[in-house]
Amino acid sequence: MQETLQLLKDLQDIDQDLRQLRTTRQALEEEQAALGADLEKVQAMVDALQSELERIEGERKELSLALTQEQDNVEKAEARLPAIKTQKEYVAVLKEIDTAKKMNKDLQDRIAAKDSESAEISREKDEKDQQLLEVKERVEGRVQEVLEQLAGFGEAYTEKNGNRESFLKQLKTPLRKRYELLLDRRGGVAVVEARNGTCQGCNMHLPPQLFNSLYTVNEIQNCPHCNRMLYVLPPT
Ligand SMILES: [Zn+2]
Repeated sequence: MQETLQLLKDLQDIDQDLRQLRTTRQALEEEQAALGADLEKVQAMVDALQSELERIEGERKELSLALTQEQDNVEKAEARLPAIKTQKEYVAVLKEIDTAKKMNKDLQDRIAAKDSESAEISREKDEKDQQLLEVKERVEGRVQEVLEQLAGFGEAYTEKNGNRESFLKQLKTPLRKRYELLLDRRGGVAVVEARNGTCQGCNMHLPPQLFNSLYTVNEIQNCPHCNRMLYVLPPT
């Protein structure tokens, strides 16, 4: 029976390693996802600023085109002036020129406003571009580390899992089921030492008769409190 208990203890060591590896893997995967989300967030801000800049640029182009046309109108009207015969017509053309010039002034103001809006967004975008570079550098470095760890994890896990299978095969089915159930329900600890009359799994006192029998009885015994399988180390 000591042999079986030793086998269970060895198996439990492997199971605890596997459990640790799974926890580590999950943490790494979560970190990887969080890093990706950070990057996406900054990238989305940069993209939004970029399309804002493009929109302003498009509006500025339209205004600029309208200004060119309006300036052309002024020039044409002015060119007509020397040939005008009547006072009435002269006044009408002057009025036309005046209106066009006012419109030019308005267009120039609007273009200037677009320019300063564009300059402000450009500054903001430059900041975000810089931030994106920094986040990228940080994220890519860390993701690389995470990926390497995950790759190493895969190998370690496969090897340990192979060992686990070969250990499990050596146990009789009812005992294997009992072990796996306990492992699952008792936080990965199915087999524990009983020391000084106490179960080291739940820290409860064992009935003296049960404790003493652990040295003599040839059967695996369970803690009456937490149900874990008990073993004792030989007295030193
Ligand atoms: Zn116990």
